[in-house]
Amino acid sequence: MDLLNTLVDKGLRRELPTRDEALAVLATSDDELLDVVAAAGKVRRHWFGRRVKLNYLVNLKSGLCPEDCSYCSQRLGSKADILKYTWLKPDEASQAAAAGVAGGAKRVCLVASGRGPTDRDVDRVSKTIETIKEQNEAVEVCACLGLLSQGQAERLRAAGADAYNHNLNTSEGTYGEITTTHTYADRVDTVQQARAAGLSACSGLIAGMGESDEDLVDVVFSLRQLDADSVPVNFLIPFEGTPLAKEWNLTPQRCLRILAMVRFVCPDVEVRIAGGREVHLRTMQPLALHLANSIFLGDYLTSEGQAGRADLEMIEDAGFEVEGTDTVTLPEHRAAAAGCGSHEGGGCAAPGGPTPEEASAPEASAPEASVPEARTDLVAVRRRGAGTDLAPNA
Ligand code: SF4
Repeated sequence: MDLLNTLVDKGLRRELPTRDEALAVLATSDDELLDVVAAAGKVRRHWFGRRVKLNYLVNLKSGLCPEDCSYCSQRLGSKADILKYTWLKPDEASQAAAAGVAGGAKRVCLVASGRGPTDRDVDRVSKTIETIKEQNEAVEVCACLGLLSQGQAERLRAAGADAYNHNLNTSEGTYGEITTTHTYADRVDTVQQARAAGLSACSGLIAGMGESDEDLVDVVFSLRQLDADSVPVNFLIPFEGTPLAKEWNLTPQRCLRILAMVRFVCPDVEVRIAGGREVHLRTMQPLALHLANSIFLGDYLTSEGQAGRADLEMIEDAGFEVEGTDTVTLPEHRAAAAGCGSHEGGGCAAPGGPTPEEASAPEASAPEASVPEARTDLVAVRRRGAGTDLAPNA
């Protein structure tokens, strides 16, 4: 396929595909799917080899959020039967983190529900970061605490945080349909504050919320424009008790196309398969490792993932290797870049405006129709690890 050859060439040069090319990846047929995976896999291997980075989530504070993000089981008014607890103490959080590190994780993601941290919360998380770093200097720590206020990113950086996560989640155009208590611009602002403070920016999306292909392409182009170093791709877990409980829109094939599109648009960044991996990719998870170079080990914030041991076996069986702490995840040009490392070649396309190149993009064939099943049987609310007396899954 000319489309795929073009996209591989661009991916190896870190050149931005056109919007139409990105849309065409989402529109490929099931017959073309393995070719799409093979092509995006070339780009993945060029920048990241066969390494898989493992990340470990620690939910520092669960549920009871005043915000109304429709996809979230911790949202205002959520009836999801999730664990609810207030801030873990620094030693409790570092114990949970240690379990993930012992299981092979090189990054720990400290996440708290809420609109954003108070300065006291930042103190608390700073102590947690310091405790984790004292115990294991090599571990990367990413904080995910919501919208940041002036100076908070700098304080987290000073405490030893390596990265800050704040997802854009969906396109600017549809953001207001997903959340009303804050704006897309608020989210962009926090990612920019984190980057300006010297934190590696982690920002991603959620697929499966009823968005169009154009929305998906918009948000991924925006993430490239924001120059996020890592892009988590979540597949919506439609929790009972949330407004999106009936949104079962994804098939494993659709998930693979989305990951391939993200890889082509953001070729040299850490593309991470995040929440919903087991629920939506199911037995196709190993194929997704040819596209993403990073996954979460074990459980998610409010739901359980497959056993950590199964994650490790899957990586080995698929012919990949767990990335060690002695290896720098990002390609040299990006790891070293203080500023924009990925915007060469085609430059950044602002979401929206067509380019002359787009006019000549290949025609997309329609993907084969398949009606996704509601696999509520695969959604398990987390009942172990942080906030419980039971051992974590790592
Ligand atoms: S995504 Fe974050 S801000 Fe939104 S409801 Fe969930 S915990 Fe709150």
